[in-house]
Amino acid sequence: MPELPEVETIVRELRRHIVGKTIAAVRLFWPRSVEGSQSEFCRRLRGMTVAAVFRRGKYIGLESADGTFFTIHLRMTGKLVQEMAAQDRKHLRVRFNFLDGTALHFVDTRKFGRLRLWPSREQSCPGLGPEPLRQATLLAVLRALSTTRAIKTVLLDQTILAGIGNIYADEALFATGIHPLTPAAALNHGQQKRLARSLPLVLRLAIGRRGTTLRDYRTVEDRSGENQEHLFVYGRSGQPCLTCGTAIEKMRIAGRSSHFCPRCQKKTV
Ligand SMILES: [Zn+2]
Repeated sequence: MPELPEVETIVRELRRHIVGKTIAAVRLFWPRSVEGSQSEFCRRLRGMTVAAVFRRGKYIGLESADGTFFTIHLRMTGKLVQEMAAQDRKHLRVRFNFLDGTALHFVDTRKFGRLRLWPSREQSCPGLGPEPLRQATLLAVLRALSTTRAIKTVLLDQTILAGIGNIYADEALFATGIHPLTPAAALNHGQQKRLARSLPLVLRLAIGRRGTTLRDYRTVEDRSGENQEHLFVYGRSGQPCLTCGTAIEKMRIAGRSSHFCPRCQKKTV
């Protein structure tokens, strides 16, 4: 599933390719990809000139100068591409045709991705926690945690922090030597500080590498990410830790697979 670095990469490419363009036609090939009224969605978007593209958590937001605002959430397998590969055609769900003759295709194999019109940008995506790219914000969030839920689970909770998924939660916990099962409220001051410093760095490094492509993720320009070449623990169970050589372990925490080094990330609580 695309996480913050992948969505940020897509947003940056969308800015290059569609800002200033006018949507001439919207065609729904799988209407349920659109939440809410599909006819209103198509009617409001027809003639819309894209003034800005935003990211909020894992949402992509597109806004016109007059305030029309809609979001795209890619979920498991959604992607936005200018040009479709042959194998994409049967998974095309929504197509935007621009006045200049170019197009944007929403392709989604598993059909979990969603597009949605909102009354305004301010009223969109309710309930999301703050963005995790600033150390001060993160430190405040981590210090305020009173839950005994595992820190791994808390990092994935979009109402606490928006945009972090399984890959970057595992990588940040490894980078800071924190065991994923550590109760969130039991992190000591040093651990809170390290995690608050490290998480933005892990995310920004991944943005610089256009994100992580494990299976489906492609950018708007149909490029893959490069961060998969730089993972320390995610997807590496059984392989030697790059720091100490111990075999990376994998365990399920609240239904999600978690990868960690049992030696570098000792359980202290
Ligand atoms: Zn290790």
